[in-house]
Amino acid sequence: MECTDSKCPIHGSLKTHGYSVEGIVVSDKLGKTIIVEHAYTTFLKKYERSLRKNSRVPAHNPPCMNAKVGDHVRISGTRRLSKTKAFVVTKVIKRGA
Ligand SMILES: [Zn+2]
Repeated sequence: MECTDSKCPIHGSLKTHGYSVEGIVVSDKLGKTIIVEHAYTTFLKKYERSLRKNSRVPAHNPPCMNAKVGDHVRISGTRRLSKTKAFVVTKVIKRGA
C-alpha cells in the first residue's frame, strides 16, 4: 500500500522529537487518530508509596501504520498536529488484542 500522508514520519515530511512512549491502542474510531494508553508508576512522597497511573494520549495514525485497537505501538512527540494531537505512531511493535 502506498502512503501519501504528508503527516507520516517515514513517507512524509513530519519530524519527530526525542520523546517517545509505548502503549496500547484503546480507540481507533477517530479516522487518522488513535488513542494510546500507557501505564507508568510515580512515587508519592507523602505516603511513601508508588502508584500506577494511566495516561491517554491522542496520536496520529498514518495509513502505512494502520494501528488498530489492542495493538502495542510506539509513539513519538512531534509538532502539534491538531488541538489535542502532538504525537505520531512511529512503530507497531505487536499486532492484535
Ligand atoms: Zn507512511
